Amino acid sequence: MRLCPQLRPLKFNGNHVRLQPENQADPSHAGLYIHVPFCVRKCVYCDFYSITDLDRIEAYVQGLQKEMALTEAAGLAFDTVYLGGGTPSVLGPEHLEAILGAVSDCFCLSSRPEVTLEANPNTVCRDRVASWMACGVNRINIGVQSFDDTRLAFLKRLHSGKQAHCAIRSVRTAGMNNVGLDLIYGLPDQRPEEWLDDLKEAVQYAPEHLSCYMLTYEQGTPLYRLYKQGRVRALEEDRVRALFDLTVGFLTDMGYEQYEISNFSQEKIFRSRHNQKYWDHTPYIGLGPSAHSFREKKRSWNHADLTRYLAELAQGHLPVESFEILNRSQLMLETVYLGLRTSTGIRIDRFKERFHVDFYEYFDEAFEELDRRGLQGLVAYSPEQYVLTDEGRAFADAVASVFAAYVLDADGHRNRSTA
Ligand code: SF4
Repeated sequence: MRLCPQLRPLKFNGNHVRLQPENQADPSHAGLYIHVPFCVRKCVYCDFYSITDLDRIEAYVQGLQKEMALTEAAGLAFDTVYLGGGTPSVLGPEHLEAILGAVSDCFCLSSRPEVTLEANPNTVCRDRVASWMACGVNRINIGVQSFDDTRLAFLKRLHSGKQAHCAIRSVRTAGMNNVGLDLIYGLPDQRPEEWLDDLKEAVQYAPEHLSCYMLTYEQGTPLYRLYKQGRVRALEEDRVRALFDLTVGFLTDMGYEQYEISNFSQEKIFRSRHNQKYWDHTPYIGLGPSAHSFREKKRSWNHADLTRYLAELAQGHLPVESFEILNRSQLMLETVYLGLRTSTGIRIDRFKERFHVDFYEYFDEAFEELDRRGLQGLVAYSPEQYVLTDEGRAFADAVASVFAAYVLDADGHRNRSTA
């Protein structure tokens, strides 16, 4: 079972998204993800598919337009478009206009969709932001990661701390009122004071949204190799945990709500409408090399190779590498894993609607196991929802793994192997 890694003028009416109450993902509306597989340089920790040959952007845009024309999306209405990557902000305004124009021609969009563009600080200036907004972008997510030049150099980011500050100011000056910043913590030897400095630098701009991700050592990345060779030492688990606690405490004090383990918003209306679709199995279609799609029980993914992606399209085929059909147990497991990561938790009525069993009855043995392991205090429950407490959020995977052991597989057996 694969989890989607996307873990993003069209002549829209105006640049400001009309936010739904709480900006909750609307399950009746699908999401559209567009993977832009270009980066000026690869960062040391990144395992997303991207290439540095920017001369291929034109061919990519033409391929994307073909993919959109071939994609069957009858019956789906979309209320989010997310340009992720890669580095979507390397696209010129003409490319962005062509892409979003094709989106508008090929898909049924709600009247005011949330349109997010991921940007790297070294590619942001006021005029560019204005051109993105003119194309219909109404939310920008900036990959700041850190304001500290030494840390940025370690991560092999292209920008400096000063450029990160300039980029945020430019986005604001251009009039963007829905801005997200991405930060990374848990770097080797990182002290709490250093991480707190990054958080303070970020909140001075009052970003509507903050994503704070823990540095991970993904196989196949240069960072993983350095780690395996003993040239980089990962921060100890208890120190990472302390940084996580610091993040939650500081951002909560600053008025942010932690609505998912790594995601914080100033108000509910500034939650990422798009990302919430990944967490509650709302359908989404992914376009571009390596993009994932999910519809009903089927998850599929495109070739993570631009040459192969374009070759398939040139022959009139969708560039899908493979797919899987999730069975009931797998869907149930994902519902538990993903639900526990969010502040909404597992919705008891939706669980019953979907799986035709009562959540509390189905998992009664799991609750006993949680008790035996002393984990019961990490969750709060009511007839409406089952949710991790503030303290429990740091142990989401441990709690979810207990449930995994009590999900019945397709043959009616307990799924013990996942415990
Ligand atoms: S800019 Fe983003 S997508 Fe590109 S290599 Fe760095 S982390 Fe990966």
